Amino acid sequence: MMQLFIPLNFLGFVYREIRGAFANIERMFTLLDKQPLIENSPNATTAPLTLGKVSFEQVCFSYDSRGILDDVSFTIEPGQKVAIVGDSGAGKSTIVKLLFRFYDVVSGAIRIDGQDIRQLSQDTLRQAIAIVPQDTVLFNDTLVENIRYGRPSATDAEIDAAINMAHLGEFIQSLPEGRDTRVGERGLKLSGGEKQRVAIARAILKRSPILVFDEATSSLDSHSEQAILTALKEVAKDHTSLVIAHRLSTVIDADQILVLSKGRVVEVGTHYDLLKKAGLYAKLWRIQQE
Ligand code: ATP
Repeated sequence: MMQLFIPLNFLGFVYREIRGAFANIERMFTLLDKQPLIENSPNATTAPLTLGKVSFEQVCFSYDSRGILDDVSFTIEPGQKVAIVGDSGAGKSTIVKLLFRFYDVVSGAIRIDGQDIRQLSQDTLRQAIAIVPQDTVLFNDTLVENIRYGRPSATDAEIDAAINMAHLGEFIQSLPEGRDTRVGERGLKLSGGEKQRVAIARAILKRSPILVFDEATSSLDSHSEQAILTALKEVAKDHTSLVIAHRLSTVIDADQILVLSKGRVVEVGTHYDLLKKAGLYAKLWRIQQE
């Protein structure tokens, strides 16, 4: 019996090691997938950015010969919430990709706290921005480890606070194994809204001055959507927020809404300013209300 037990035990060990290695490979690919194509400039600034002021100054950009962004300018003061709305293909996600410096602008400049992002080290830039993407990647690990990924050195108390702020507490309590429930491909499958709240908790832990929220295009059930909106409102108190919005209900409270059309900012204002203008935003609002 012992003769059989030892090899089986060893096989179990090998299996667990391989499974762990795959989880790490997945983690690595996720990171690689997000690596910008851009190199650090020599003498790049490495000091952390703390205020979170974002400015786009006459930014023009094209992926190839086709112009995508044309003379885009806006400023987000520290702590403000700015939303970008516009038709599909208008260039909303491209603005976020440029802010992360996945690509360099063709002309103009993007600054954070007054510094051109081309003069910042990649680490400094990435540390300054936390993103809540449309589709969050969950690793094959427990829920709590997936949240801790936002800042591996976070304490349990900080994780609990992030869970509460992200409105995940009730959901976690409903799981038989609570925060130790395994999630990801080989674990519990979370809904789109639950995954976005995990991403919000990660973003809270990261403690970056700037938060980018890329709203999911697919509609969420109204309970999940409401939980996300409430969580974001709380998080926005401590962050400069840039929201790529598909549902205009998300942007009503924004300090400034940029309406993008074919790569140009065609209207700027608050929700009520823009409704009064009776332009493109008012038209989009009417369509969504119907
Ligand atoms: P949506 O609301 O559908 O997500 P969007 O407003 O975010 O759209 P972008 O994703 O910024 O639009 O795309 C703007 C334009 O740039 C589109 O015409 C798109 O086809 C093009 N585009 C996006 N990514 C690339 C790329 N990597 N290479 C070439 N063209 C691209």
